Amino acid sequence: MAFDFEKDFLVEKLKEIKPKKVLVQLPEGIKQNAFDLKKTFEDLGIEAIFSGESCWGGCAIAVTEAKDIGADLIVHFGHAKFIDSDFPILYIEVKDILNLEPILKKSLEKLKDYKIIGFSYSIQHRHDLDKIVKFYEDNGKTIILSEKLGNVAYEGHIVGCQYRGLKAIEDKVDAFVIMGNNFHSMGAVLSVNKPVILIDVYNDDVRKMEDERDKILKQRAISIQKFKDARKIGILTEIKPGQKFGAPKTLIEKFEKAGKEVVLITISEITPEKLMNFYSVDAFVELACPRIAIDDFAEYDRPIITFKEARVALGEMTWDELLERGIV
Ligand code: SF4
Repeated sequence: MAFDFEKDFLVEKLKEIKPKKVLVQLPEGIKQNAFDLKKTFEDLGIEAIFSGESCWGGCAIAVTEAKDIGADLIVHFGHAKFIDSDFPILYIEVKDILNLEPILKKSLEKLKDYKIIGFSYSIQHRHDLDKIVKFYEDNGKTIILSEKLGNVAYEGHIVGCQYRGLKAIEDKVDAFVIMGNNFHSMGAVLSVNKPVILIDVYNDDVRKMEDERDKILKQRAISIQKFKDARKIGILTEIKPGQKFGAPKTLIEKFEKAGKEVVLITISEITPEKLMNFYSVDAFVELACPRIAIDDFAEYDRPIITFKEARVALGEMTWDELLERGIV
């Protein structure tokens, strides 16, 4: 697999912005490129310090870290802009250089029953979008890109916590095709009521996602029910600026009114180890990345639910309404 770090664009922007010191954020899969990238900054007389914190999405903007080291710019690789920030950030989206034709051909078999396709891609494939659309149109399909709604940066762009753009075109399409990885397509299948086909370029695989939907939904319903029975609640509020899903203050009031005791916990990067010692908490609601509760629930020894699910637990939304809106 080859990545294009868009160095010409990077250098052009750095010459324009003229930072003295930058904090560089790299997603996990490309942290290995730190030395190579360091040289690009050094050649321009810029001091580069690399963040060792995890960087799973464009939500993970390390503003506090950048200020702490006295950086005047964050250079964030591998994601598109996710939120506004008052700290200067340069996003380098990084292109995945692949020959997509074989896997697109392979996908036609799975798409034979569908004519109108809703298409979404993870950011590394944006540069191939025209070719992908042309391929499908040449093969008799009509492509509708998911809409640019919420925190996505472009029409067709997908992130793991925002599926409003897919919901918006759901009635117009026969099926969705997601080019990216299991994470993005899993979120899609939990959010839309149409078939979802994943083009997994990293494992050379094309597969329908429906099989996993029912299992996860059942797990979510159980977690909400267990949460309802809990008396002592921990509300987890993430300190990353891009992971603010829901207002803790309002939730505290509502849960206390419902007879629960509540403790508010700040956290960066929720893990089972960090929650373990809060022995007295019966269940958690996390206001960070919703995928932590949905995808990783099995790692936690107590129920953990999302903000949307908390609304169901409070009786503000029914389970059916949640499914209609999409659980992510
Ligand atoms: S909040 Fe979660 S799903 Fe959304 S961009 Fe961040 S890591 Fe990805």
